[in-house]
Order: sequence, then C-alpha cells, then structure tokens
Amino acid sequence: MKKILSTLIFLISFSNLSLASECKINLEANGMMQFSTNTISIDSSCEKFTINLKNTGTLDVNLAGHNVVISKKADFNYLTSIVNPSNGIGNGYLPDDKKVIYKTKFLGPNETFSLILDTNKFVKGQEYIFWCSFLGHWGVMNGTITLS
Ligand code: ZN
Repeated sequence: MKKILSTLIFLISFSNLSLASECKINLEANGMMQFSTNTISIDSSCEKFTINLKNTGTLDVNLAGHNVVISKKADFNYLTSIVNPSNGIGNGYLPDDKKVIYKTKFLGPNETFSLILDTNKFVKGQEYIFWCSFLGHWGVMNGTITLS
C-alpha cells in the first residue's frame, strides 16, 4: 500500500510538471515562409501561454519580416484586407483593430520575441488562427490555435 501511494504521488507530481512545461511553445519562422508548426494548443490550465518566436531566415526585415498575429479564424479575411505597409514594421503593417487579439512587430534575421498570451482571452470551441502579416506571407504562414 505504501508503495502504491508513493507511486501515485510520483505520478501526480510528474503530471503537474509536464503540464507546467506546456505553457509555452518555440515557434520558428524560416526563409521558406514556413512556421515550424501549424497547430498550437493552449492548455486551459495555463494562466499565461508564451510563444517564443524566432526568425531563422536571412532576408532583411523590409524584404521578408515575420511576425505573429492572432485573431479569430472568422476575422482572418477581413484583417488581411486591412494590412498596409503604411502602418509600419513595428505594428506588423496592421492598424489598431479590436479584431486583432495579439500582434507582434516584424522580426528580422535571428531576431526573437516572446509573446505572452492571457489564456482568458480564448474560449474553448472557438477557432483561432495565428498568421504572419507580411505582404504575401499569410496564405502559407498560418496555423490554428485552440484552447483545450
Ligand atoms: Zn512572414
């Protein structure tokens, strides 16, 4: 009995440890206009979820910057229609819009950025999309985000 109990305690503490380590993801954006994953699953036990974005490409930020924008999937077409370089690299070419849940600046070669998400902004069952708002990129640089 004592052995079973200690095994149980070990399993519980082990599972807590693995849950805690899932509150972040390393996301690479490369020179082939690809994200290193096209699905991000946020565990609802996480209060915050961190996306560590890195641009592993070699082209200058003005030529092929990469960023992450997060929106509802239903708002994707609208938001891509308002992308305009006049909004600036620091704003990911996007104006302030309440349909943008999160966005980062564009990153140049080897630049990194940690985007910290508030899990409360996501609803289970809702389809979200993460995408790069650089001109010509979002058609291939996109993936789904879900709260699970
Ligand atoms: Zn990009």
